[in-house]
Amino acid sequence: MLQKDNLLKLMDSWSGMFSLKKSLSTSNEQKDISNISRKFADENYSRMFVMIIFGVLFAFAFFLSDIVSNFYCKEFPVSILNMFYEGLYIVVGMTVLLIGIICKLKKYQLSSKMKIALHTIFCSCAAIGSGLGYVSESLRGQRSIVPLFFVIYFGTVTTMPLGLFFFCYAAVFLPALITQGVIHTLETAEILTTIGCGLFFSFNRVIYLRFRLTQDELERVNKELGESAITDPLTKVGNRTRLYRIFETNKQQWMEEKSEICLVMCDVDNFKNYNDTYSHLKGDECLVKITEAIKNAFPKDGTFGELIRFGGEEFLILLAGDELYERLAVMYQNIRTNICELKLKSGVGAVHEYVTLSLGADISPYNESFVLEDRIKNADLQLYISKNNGRDKMTVTTCKEGNL
Ligand code: GH3
Ligand code: MG
Ligand code: MG
Repeated sequence: MLQKDNLLKLMDSWSGMFSLKKSLSTSNEQKDISNISRKFADENYSRMFVMIIFGVLFAFAFFLSDIVSNFYCKEFPVSILNMFYEGLYIVVGMTVLLIGIICKLKKYQLSSKMKIALHTIFCSCAAIGSGLGYVSESLRGQRSIVPLFFVIYFGTVTTMPLGLFFFCYAAVFLPALITQGVIHTLETAEILTTIGCGLFFSFNRVIYLRFRLTQDELERVNKELGESAITDPLTKVGNRTRLYRIFETNKQQWMEEKSEICLVMCDVDNFKNYNDTYSHLKGDECLVKITEAIKNAFPKDGTFGELIRFGGEEFLILLAGDELYERLAVMYQNIRTNICELKLKSGVGAVHEYVTLSLGADISPYNESFVLEDRIKNADLQLYISKNNGRDKMTVTTCKEGNL
């Protein structure tokens, strides 16, 4: 007698055949969702080439047998149909094969999306070809091996888990074989095979669509997670992780272009007073407005620029390019104008009547001796000079030193 645990395990393994969640959750790679998407695309892609070779060989075989039997001299429309479905296999199959070979030779890595697109195009054409092949065989009134070909082909070409494939395969062919053995009529066997094929296809399609949905969902969640990991939730500008990513992504280009890097540490003046006077929620609103004011002050001439929320009421401006001292001077005037226009009344006890910003900037060339932490430290030092000089100022160190 089956133990309860064993029964549960058995049910679980059966449901697992139809459930993607199970097959995903048993894998260690599940923790890395982008890995799953990639694996899904890779699996389909590598299966596709095996099936293209099979498909093209089959199509050539059909084609040759048609020529040998002088088929094309016979009646329209079967011959046209035959030419079309065989041609479709050969043309689409060879094209996809060629794309694969060229990419391999050029060591060009196709994206997961591209792999799935190729797979889908090929599957759709193969499906149309197989269907036409079956119709054409029936019109000729011949005993058909196409359904068999149909099943093997799609079982391998689609994403169906192997266990489920063998199950469907048996479900399609065993009744047909048994019927044939018992009743000795090929017609009944063929009808059953065709019904089985229909069932098989709908299974396959459902599974395939679930894979696709899962993949789309994973990609969406992955993208959202990726974005939120580098975005500050209050001001929606980048956080420090984004800052390090930017340097990681651009270092090569900046080095080649011998770019200058400008880092500006900005700190809201007497912000504690603002919170104490108007509440922390109003303080949050004030930070969002200041973020917008700084964002709107960035150079509009294509200079690389990013705003990072560095800490509580501290922001870091990053500019990369050339003539950054001059560009920063213009940007600073814009920041002051924009913040001035906000007319945010300072909290009780603040130095200025309206909310102001103090800034400290470091401009240095991007070369082998560039150390981000050291540059930030220097910008911070300049910020404290601005604070000590009465706030609402910017202090800059560069090749040309200055106090704006
Ligand atoms: P200083 O001009 O010297 O910079 O004075 P300050 O008052 O701005 O500096 P201080 O470091 O004393 O206070 C910073 C305040 O910023 C304290 C903290 O409550 C507030 N703060 C930090 N992060 C947030 C935030 O996300 N929202 C709000 N509302 N306040 C914040
Ligand atoms: Mg501060
Ligand atoms: Mg402050």
